[in-house]
Amino acid sequence: MHTSKHTSSLPAHRYTLVVDLDRCTGCGACGTACAVENNIPPAAEKATERTGTVWMRVHEAAAAGDGPATFVPIPCQQCDNPPCVDVCPQRAIEYDPRTGIVAQIPVRCLGCRYCMVACPYHTRSFNWWTPEWPEGMKATLNPDVSIRTRGVVEKCNFCVQRLQAARAKASAAGQAEIDPADYVPACVEACPSRALSFGDAADEKGEVARLAEDPESFRLLAGLGTGPKVLYRSSDPAARERLSRTGVTRG
Ligand code: SF4
Repeated sequence: MHTSKHTSSLPAHRYTLVVDLDRCTGCGACGTACAVENNIPPAAEKATERTGTVWMRVHEAAAAGDGPATFVPIPCQQCDNPPCVDVCPQRAIEYDPRTGIVAQIPVRCLGCRYCMVACPYHTRSFNWWTPEWPEGMKATLNPDVSIRTRGVVEKCNFCVQRLQAARAKASAAGQAEIDPADYVPACVEACPSRALSFGDAADEKGEVARLAEDPESFRLLAGLGTGPKVLYRSSDPAARERLSRTGVTRG
């Protein structure tokens, strides 16, 4: 477990995503659900693999031998020591010490893209174009998520708007803590293979805390010391060794 230099102690909550690579089929439902929830527009006509806006990208990592490829969904890794926070001259990225969530604040972003250079996981997108939706689709946008303009960087924030809604519900009911069932990111909800688990790893009796301690769990680029709160699991020792050491290179 990592301690963030952005806090004097571990966060009270420690929201964590666990990706089971044995279960992931690479269907992409997580990325689609993420785009719908977070008002990510359809790719612009000129967008490429590198220039499109994607918060949850599913990579295909070739097997070392003859085995099948491994599909690796990669959102923002929600690091406890996030390199992006340190380089941003605008304080447009904030680490919340109460939750461990690294949030992006697009209205402060000047588009310098230092954060994109600093992120070793390549999970940030720059808005090259003004977002556009097909006729009629605007009516389906999520009112809880602001639309980002051209010229700013954006990324996954663990659907923090759902946490805010869960807090409002708990507060209205006179409860100090949220019901964990009320805070589930869109990707987790959508995965048909149940490859994604989410919860508060600070809850020592919870499923996510158990998975975090599982010997088959690991972090991408573990040696960097960024302390991601996105964990991966695989029953294949070779895949664990390869991904924790080199991560997944972006094409
Ligand atoms: S692109 Fe925006 S968020 Fe990233 S470092 Fe620059 S100002 Fe900060």
